[in-house]
Amino acid sequence: MTTAEKTSFTVHRAQSAPAPSLPPFGQFIRGKFVPSTSSETADVVNPATEEVLTQVPAGTAEDVDAAVAAAVAAKASWAATTPRDRSAVLLKIADIIEKNRETFETLESADTGKPAAVAEDDISSAIDTFRFSAGAARAFSTLGADDYAENHTSVIHREPVGVVGVITPWNYPLLMAAWKIAPVLGAGNTLVLKPSEQTPLTTLKLAELIADEVPAGVVNIVTGPGRVVGNRLSEHPGVDLVAITGSVGSGQKVAASAAASVKRVHLELGGKAPVVVFDDADLEAAAKGVRSAGFWNGGQECGAACRVLVHESVAEKFTELLVREISEITVGTPGADDAEIGSMISKAHYERVLAALEDVRKDGLTIAVGGNAIEGQGYFIEPTVVTNVPAGAPITSNEIFGPVVSVETFSTDEEAVARANETIYGLAASVWTKDSARSLTVPRKLDFGTVWVNSHLVIATEMPWGGFKGSGYGRDLSSYALDDFSRTKHVMYNRG
Ligand code: NAD
Repeated sequence: MTTAEKTSFTVHRAQSAPAPSLPPFGQFIRGKFVPSTSSETADVVNPATEEVLTQVPAGTAEDVDAAVAAAVAAKASWAATTPRDRSAVLLKIADIIEKNRETFETLESADTGKPAAVAEDDISSAIDTFRFSAGAARAFSTLGADDYAENHTSVIHREPVGVVGVITPWNYPLLMAAWKIAPVLGAGNTLVLKPSEQTPLTTLKLAELIADEVPAGVVNIVTGPGRVVGNRLSEHPGVDLVAITGSVGSGQKVAASAAASVKRVHLELGGKAPVVVFDDADLEAAAKGVRSAGFWNGGQECGAACRVLVHESVAEKFTELLVREISEITVGTPGADDAEIGSMISKAHYERVLAALEDVRKDGLTIAVGGNAIEGQGYFIEPTVVTNVPAGAPITSNEIFGPVVSVETFSTDEEAVARANETIYGLAASVWTKDSARSLTVPRKLDFGTVWVNSHLVIATEMPWGGFKGSGYGRDLSSYALDDFSRTKHVMYNRG
């Protein structure tokens, strides 16, 4: 056993947690909660305590059909509203979330096991997303009319796409819903959203609280399994665009189902972000950066700083600093004041992460710190650093989506770039260097939708977020999201 493997973690547990305010039971269709066509339900579990919080309907294709009919019925009148009208609704939604901030934070933590600080950040970012989209919707315009053919004047219109199907993941339930709802509505579309079956509660709570502010049918929420509800949304001929945030496998299935009706697809999929640390980098800053960006939300983050590539000449020093940082992480239940990371989202995911750690051991890699489940109630795993990772080892390319960071070394800048790009994913990466030439050239050579220099996982609502390659296509946040959720029409007037 290495010295660091002796570091063991315990779960800091809050003495008591506030009882979450649960949403009504049912599917949210045409502005109210209605019964599902099925009596089957799914348990929603608090992963930090393993207690069942509540049940939600295990929805059906018929539920989706009813919700799409509501969204289709509402689409013409919503599309006819002015940007100012839509902006007013988005600002109202932001105010409602802000006014009920504690309700959302408590519910999100109970549903996901995430620390209070992460839930607070999620809710603040959701509010900001609605406020940004409210402004962006009003500033969204096209080129002025002009002549491009003799005696003809061309006008470009940006129109809503129509009905948008949205499928969200479990890692940031309300925030990922906000990233879609705000620009989708801002651009004049109506929507049907399917939250993750594991974390539907804050999305349903949002529906409950905004029901009187959004015209009936503009926002519809259907809970249920991906292969049933998500699949029906993807194939439904009444849905004009389907947007999913999730794993690569689910994205592929959505795109395949969408192909039958040739609908547009917006994919925000997985990631395996490389963190390239050059020999001239501020190593302490890089180690602290990996602590916060690799372990934020327990590493259940598509842009997590989970794959370090460090120059061989500074690898020993950097690894020592990193192991020290990670050994200091506090694991805790949401209410524990000092909790930095919480539990895994579910028993199944906890087992997946433990199986990945078992593979790491079988591959003969070194676990420098952590590497185990933490005993007791809840699905907690120790913050883990894996070292001595050779090029091409499975851990360099498989998304673990847990509190696990691996460290590889490289010799030259060319090798660093080539190895960083050696992944099916292309969501995010970071470069750590004090050399200004490197800071300009290396990001341009990296195949990732976001590249940070001397930073990682800092998100700005005004800037686009989205991937290349296996991480999908489509952009969230920024005015690019409004662009993605609209269509371009050219009208040409004959003046002759
Ligand atoms: P997941 O793919 O298991 O589920 C995502 C959603 O897709 C869920 O609502 C699920 O029910 C639905 N789904 C599953 N199968 C489906 C099918 N056949 N048809 C339609 N819908 C289906 O992902 P997850 O485990 O909830 O979330 C983790 C994944 O999401 C990770 O891979 C992570 O990297 C990715 N993610 C990406 C981003 C991003 O911005 N790119 C953000 C957050 C999470």
